[in-house]
Parts: sequence; C-alpha cells; structure tokens
Amino acid sequence: MGNDSRRAKRLSLRTLSRIVAEANAAKDLDEMLRVMVEHIHQAMNVDVCSIYLTDEQTGRHTLSATVGLRKEAVDRLVLGPKEGLIGLVASQMQPLNIGDCSHHPRFKYIPLVGEEDFNAFLGVPIIFQGALLGVLVVQHRQSRRFTEQDVSFAVTLATQLASHIAFAKLTKTVVAPVAGESEGQWLDGLAAAPGIGIGTAVVLYELTAMHTIPDRVVTDTEAEKLAFVRAVAAVEQDLRELSASHEGHPPQQRELLEAYSMILTSNELVDAVLQSIDNGTWAPAALRTAVEELACKFDIMEDPYLCERGRDIRDLGRRVMDKLLEIEGGDVTYPQNTILVGTDLSAIDLIKVPTDRLRGAISERGSAFSHLAIVARTLGIPAVTGLGDLPLMQLDRREIIADGYRGRLYVNPNATVRREFRRLAREEQELNDFLEAFRDKQAITPDGERVTVLVNAGLAEDLPVALNAGAEGVGLYRTELLFMTQDRFPTEDQQVVLYRRVLEAFHPRPVTFRTLDIGGDKPLPYFPVCETNPFLGWRGIRICLDHPEIFEMQLSALLRASEGFANARLLIPMVSGSAELYRALTHVDKVYHALLAEGRPLDKPTVGVMIEVPSAVYQAELFARHVDFLSIGTNDLTQYLLAVDRDNERVAKLFDALHPAVLQAMFHVIRCGKQRQIPVTICGEVAGDPAAALLLLGMGAEYLSVNAGDIPKIKWLITKISRAHAQELLHRALDMEAPDPIREMLRGELEQAGLGALIRPGK
Ligand code: PEP
Ligand code: MG
Repeated sequence: MGNDSRRAKRLSLRTLSRIVAEANAAKDLDEMLRVMVEHIHQAMNVDVCSIYLTDEQTGRHTLSATVGLRKEAVDRLVLGPKEGLIGLVASQMQPLNIGDCSHHPRFKYIPLVGEEDFNAFLGVPIIFQGALLGVLVVQHRQSRRFTEQDVSFAVTLATQLASHIAFAKLTKTVVAPVAGESEGQWLDGLAAAPGIGIGTAVVLYELTAMHTIPDRVVTDTEAEKLAFVRAVAAVEQDLRELSASHEGHPPQQRELLEAYSMILTSNELVDAVLQSIDNGTWAPAALRTAVEELACKFDIMEDPYLCERGRDIRDLGRRVMDKLLEIEGGDVTYPQNTILVGTDLSAIDLIKVPTDRLRGAISERGSAFSHLAIVARTLGIPAVTGLGDLPLMQLDRREIIADGYRGRLYVNPNATVRREFRRLAREEQELNDFLEAFRDKQAITPDGERVTVLVNAGLAEDLPVALNAGAEGVGLYRTELLFMTQDRFPTEDQQVVLYRRVLEAFHPRPVTFRTLDIGGDKPLPYFPVCETNPFLGWRGIRICLDHPEIFEMQLSALLRASEGFANARLLIPMVSGSAELYRALTHVDKVYHALLAEGRPLDKPTVGVMIEVPSAVYQAELFARHVDFLSIGTNDLTQYLLAVDRDNERVAKLFDALHPAVLQAMFHVIRCGKQRQIPVTICGEVAGDPAAALLLLGMGAEYLSVNAGDIPKIKWLITKISRAHAQELLHRALDMEAPDPIREMLRGELEQAGLGALIRPGK
C-alpha cells in the first residue's frame, strides 16, 4: 500500500469518527442533518451533499438538508417512492454511482433545486434495522464516476449515521407529533420481559465512556460551576504530583504532562464549560460537549503533531469527568416510576433500583435470554433490549414507555399513545386479577394429568414474590445471583444463613439449589474471567471443579443449611461429559461424609444434573443412572444447539426454543427420564412461554419451573388443555420444518382455546 493511500485511509477513518461525533452532539434532527451535510461536503470535497429522508408511511423522499443545492428546496422538494435517481437508490437499497446523471433514464429534472450543473451522482441508502430511512447523495460538476474509495466511505458513513438519524427522527416526531397521528413513533428492539412500563428514563452512564453522559438541565448553576472548578483543580493537582514523580524521566513525558496542564488552564476549555453551565446545562454534559468540540478542531488539522492533540484533550477530559462525577456523587436518584436505560444493563444494575420504583428496563445490548432479561422477568418488570446504538444522553429524564410485549420503546409519547398504553396496563392488571384465582390451585389438565409448577428464583429481593406466587417449590434457585451482589466470595457461614432463609421460607416445599454457575454472561465483579469466547470457555461446573475450595465451601454450606429441613436438592450446571459429572458427585459425597463425621444428622442429598449442553442430551440416559433427577436448561441448550449467542441482539431472531432440533432434544431427555423413572424438570425460559408449554405438556413433562409472574398463566393453560390434545399438537409440530410455522400454529391454538390473552397485550 502506498503512502498516499495509507494516509487517505487513516484520514477517512478519523474523519468518519469526527463526523459521527459531531452529528451525535447535535440538539435535534434538523441540526444533525445540517451538520452531517456540511461535514461530508467538506470531507469528501464535493460540490453537493444532500440528505433525503423517507417517510415510513408514504415512502416519499423529502430533501431535508443540503449544501450545494438551493436552500429553498429544503423541505419543499418531495419525491415519490420510486421517482428519479433517489427513488432508484431507495427501491434497490443499493448505492448508485453515475458519471453523467442527466443521461440516466431515471434522471428527473427539477428546476427548484438547481442541480443542472452537477453531472456526477453518488447516492447511498441510509438503512436502520433493515428499514430505509433516507438517501445520502453527493454530487460534483465533472462528468466522472466517484472513486471506489468515495463509495465505500459514503456507505460506511451512511451505516454509522443511520442510528443517530433514526433516533433523532423518532424524538422529533414524538415531540411534535403529526396531527391526527394515533400510534405515535417507537423504536424496535427485542421483547425481553413482558409488560408495559410507563415512567421516567434514568440513564446509567459508564464512567469511562464520555459519550454516554446524559444531557441534564440544572437550576443551581453556581453549585455546578463550583463542582467543575473543583474537578479541574483536582486534576491539576494530580498532574503536578505526576510531574514531580517523573523528575528523572525522559523529557517527553514531562512535556506531555505540561501540555496537559496548559490545555486544562487554557480559557478555551474552561470558559466553554462555564458558559454552558450558565445556560443551564449539567456540568458533566457541558464538559462532554466542550471537550468534543475542542478535540474536533485538532482532529482535522493536517499537521500530524497537532492532530494527535485531539486525543490528549479527550484523555484529559476523561480525567476531569471522573473527578467531576465523583464530586457530583455518582449516586443516581431514582424517581417514582423509574425506567432504567443503559448501553449494556446488567442484572446487578436492576437490583440496585428500589423495587417499588422500578417500572422497566431498556438496554441497547442484550437479548431476551440474557440475565438482565431473566432477572427482569423474575421481578415482573418489562424489559426491551437490543435497540442498537441509541444516543442515550438524549433520553435521560424523559417520559418513555417500555412495551415489553412487542419490544418497543416510545419516547415522549403523545396523549393518544399514553392513553392507549394506560388502557393496556389496566387490561394487564385485569388479566392478572383474573389469574389470581389459579395461583394456589393445582395444575391438572382436563384429562386428569397433574403438572407440578415450580418457581425460578435467586435474588433476596424476589424471595417474597416467589414465595407468594403459588409455586409448589423452587425448581431452580440460581445461587450465583447471590454471589453477584457481594463484593467478595461469601463465607460458608454467610451462605448457610442465606440458604437456610430460603429453605425455611419454602418448607416443606422443595428448593433446588443450583451450584455456582458463573462465567459466560454471569461474571462476578471480584472474580474476573476474560475470554474471547466466554460461553464456550471457563464456566459453570468447569470453574467449580478447578476451584474445589469454592465448590466444596458452597456444598458444605448447602448441606449444613438443609439440616433439619430435608427439602434441599442440589443441581449441577453446565455438565458436558460423564467425567465432569462423576467428579462433581465425588465432591458432593466427600463433603457429605465429612459433615456426617462431624456428627451432623444429614440425609443423603438429592442431586440432579442440568441438561443444557448438546453432549448432555446424548448422554442423558447415562447421566440419569447416576443422579436423582434431570433439569433441562433450555436457555443454554438452545444457544448451544443452534450456535446462537443468547446475549447477542444481532442474532436474537435466530434464538428460538421452538426450533425443531430443540424440541427433539427436549423430547428425548424427557423420555430418558421416564425410562429411568426419575423426574425431569424444564427450568429454562421456555417453560413459561405459553406456546412452548403446550408442546412440553405433549411431551409428557410433569415439572415446569417458571418465573413467578408466569405461574398463574401456566396453571390456567394446563387446566384448559388436555394432555391428549397437547400430544396431538406436538406431533403436528414435529412434522414441521422451522420454528415460525410451529409458533403460528400454537398461537392459533391458544386463541382458539380462549387463551389468547397469554400471548399478546390487551384482552
Ligand atoms: C438455562 O440455561 O436454561 C438455565 C435455566 O440456566 P441459566 O439461564 O441461568 O443459564
Ligand atoms: Mg444455563
């Protein structure tokens, strides 16, 4: 690669990030589009740069911003869906690069815009979540096609700008809704936990990620200025100390520290922040904007030395930001109806919000099977995940609605939307009131088959909920959640207290404690496991077998806790082969005998194994000979059978436990359990999915372990569907090739059985 092309590539990448950063900082859609066309015009050195936005409903394209065409045409030039070259790019959803556009058969001459002098045309579609948002166009006078580099740059830009345009468009429409609009605007994500949450967005920002700092308005500007000045002083002090400790070091290092101090004391940065605070902006947001603006000025400089200063400014900005957030307290205040919003919310983030204030969760990342989703369901909170890159900072403290049924986020809903969702929330409440009647009933099918409905639990916070949910026991107690909320491994005695509390609360109903299942998407803050492929790495029983001190301590705590109760069972997760199973059982045996030797009157523990790895499916019969029960973990089983990361929103559509391969695997394991005459529990999320529950019933499942909120629903379903009918449905499903028709068939059945309310919002 020659020097020129290398430089061009570097420049393009840097330019790209700068344009994205500038666009991201814009206040609204109009400003964002204006900033985009101005910067692209300059960066690509073209005569014209325009953006046309496409109306979702009519498919028409409006010239929304331009440099080079007549300004009067902005918002006035509206093209039909297939009209002209813009219509061609839009309908083909492909870039169009032509040297002389006036000779193109689809060229349409429009006097209003004044484009007669521009011959070359490059149009690229702006696509977000598979839908066309608009078209980005660059033009120049000479009759020659744009270079390959221009095309790839424009395509890359369009992909990067798409999410920002989508969000700004959404915000604009909902802030000033179109007259007569009834539905309002929304952003599509994944339905991670059902329910409707109406409330105020609280954005959780990451300390190291400047761009996630939300916009906030303040009234006490003096206090904000003081906090900022103190943060600057603290960083100056740090720099002085660092400089002193670098006395004997090479001069470049000290020079760098001095340069940092100069930037910090330069009026340009400090004044810009103070000015912005005076205008009512929260100090961290003022700092974020000032740093980005100043850094951008350096980014575009030709001199490589000056250009690098942009990086220094950002680094320095981060240091001040850290101090500032420390001074600001870092503590989040949660309003009455909090909907937590974040880039990659974790289960712990949810747990930190007082449950009586939490109304929902929105996460850019994650799928419906991540632990965030599971904990949200456990708490009965709607969650929407996988929304792609949101300009999060604009969401803070806005009114939003989380539609956990359809996986939608509404921002600043208009009156109609708000009314509609209040109605749905009311209907949801009515349905829950109706289902109350099934809570404490036994689940018996019309043909007299009994199904035991158990609850999934694991948080101290959800214990009362789980206890009162009408469960006949705990089918899965995720002990790692308990470990996740501590700042070190809990001692054996601490664990005994916690486990005993659960056993006592549920006694005499059984409680199945799954031994520590960390790794994968369940990190412990004090036990970091960094791997490139964590789901295939060191997780679950593998960690426990490598750390017998941790494993045996937990086993000992569990057995000691069970003394006098006789309702505890142990469940071993993530077993992928017999050697792991035998080793785990040996540890259980060893701990049991050691406790017996101490004179403790313990019963022999009941031990089960989770079937959640494909190899375990094929060895289920063998495993069944060595344990007292099997438990199918359909979340991991689906992930590993279909090779679909359960946490990855990009492939979330492929994650479906109704896939025929997953159905066959579950059916096989249930049959193995029956052959060996040991119970098989289904404890993954699928057991609480009404459509899937129909098939599980057909497979002969006798134990379903579901989230607390799903218990009455599943019990209602079981009382309405006979085992014989469920078997018929299972056979129909097993004859089908793909999950979609299976789901469709089951949905139809649920509607027909009068159970439609279980699978959609409203009555
Ligand atoms: C599962 O994998 O289905 C399961 C129940 O365990 P977890 O979701 O905690 O991995
Ligand atoms: Mg699992």
